[in-house]
Amino acid sequence: MMALRQFYLNRAETSEMKQNRINIGRRDFLKAGALAAASAAIAGSAGKAAAQAARLDEKDAQAQSLGYKHDATKVDQAKFAKYQAGQNCANCTFYQGKPTDAWGSCQIFAGKQVAGKGWCSAYVKKA
Ligand code: SF4
Repeated sequence: MMALRQFYLNRAETSEMKQNRINIGRRDFLKAGALAAASAAIAGSAGKAAAQAARLDEKDAQAQSLGYKHDATKVDQAKFAKYQAGQNCANCTFYQGKPTDAWGSCQIFAGKQVAGKGWCSAYVKKA
């Protein structure tokens, strides 16, 4: 009789333990899903941040050597006689933004954004 009772107790424990394992498994799966969703959100925002690179600083050494200005009309024309009115980043061949974009990346200043209305002495009219 005692052995039979112990048998049923063991069986009950076993099925309870099994249920715990299933619950833990489900909890871990949900946690993993939440982590994956959070990771995807972080990766998405990192992608956006990368797409919106920092704006080029006019005081940057390369910017200064090329006479870059955010506003083409402010170019030092005594130093950069090559500049002609109407030239700006938005119509330069190295500008990667759309002509109407206020800021866009430039092949000369990798990883930085230049102003569509800007200019530097590397300017080449877009064909
Ligand atoms: S290379 Fe062209 S797009 Fe780049 S900063 Fe100079 S003028 Fe602007």
